[in-house]
Amino acid sequence: MPTPPKPYSHILVAVDLTDECDPVIYRASASAAANGAKLSLIHIVEPMAMAFGGDVPMDLSQLQQQQFEQASQLLERLIGMYPQLSKDNCKLQYGQPRHEIHGFAKEHGCDLIVVGSHGRHGLALLLGSTANDVLHDAPCDVLAVTLKQTN
Ligand code: AMP
Repeated sequence: MPTPPKPYSHILVAVDLTDECDPVIYRASASAAANGAKLSLIHIVEPMAMAFGGDVPMDLSQLQQQQFEQASQLLERLIGMYPQLSKDNCKLQYGQPRHEIHGFAKEHGCDLIVVGSHGRHGLALLLGSTANDVLHDAPCDVLAVTLKQTN
């Protein structure tokens, strides 16, 4: 008889901080409870210059500061809603989502990454999705939680 895989020990949930992240957090925290695993949450704040293609002829530092503060407020709201979340297991990070999510998973020995997926097709697929991006070269298992199609 094949040996069953070990239960997950550290689950990382990546969220975009929109209203859609609830099913993703719910699935991740239920999996953490079922596996007796630690739960961590990460949100990546993408630098404005990155979002605009890297060549913006103005100082974006103030806007970026506001962007980070807004993300902090949304994250605090989530922490208030989920008893499994706290300041200690939630992280805000500047950078490119895939790079930072993989980096965190490697650094902290996460064995499952949970993301949301819109299951896009057609033009939206050509534009790419974070779930696809995270899956590519992932350092551990990835669970893509199906989200309602909005586009
Ligand atoms: P998207 O492909 O952008 O619609 O996002 C799909 C999923 O990727 C979201 O439900 C999150 O799980 C994850 N995600 C998207 N953007 C971010 C972000 N900035 N930081 C962390 N996770 C993200």
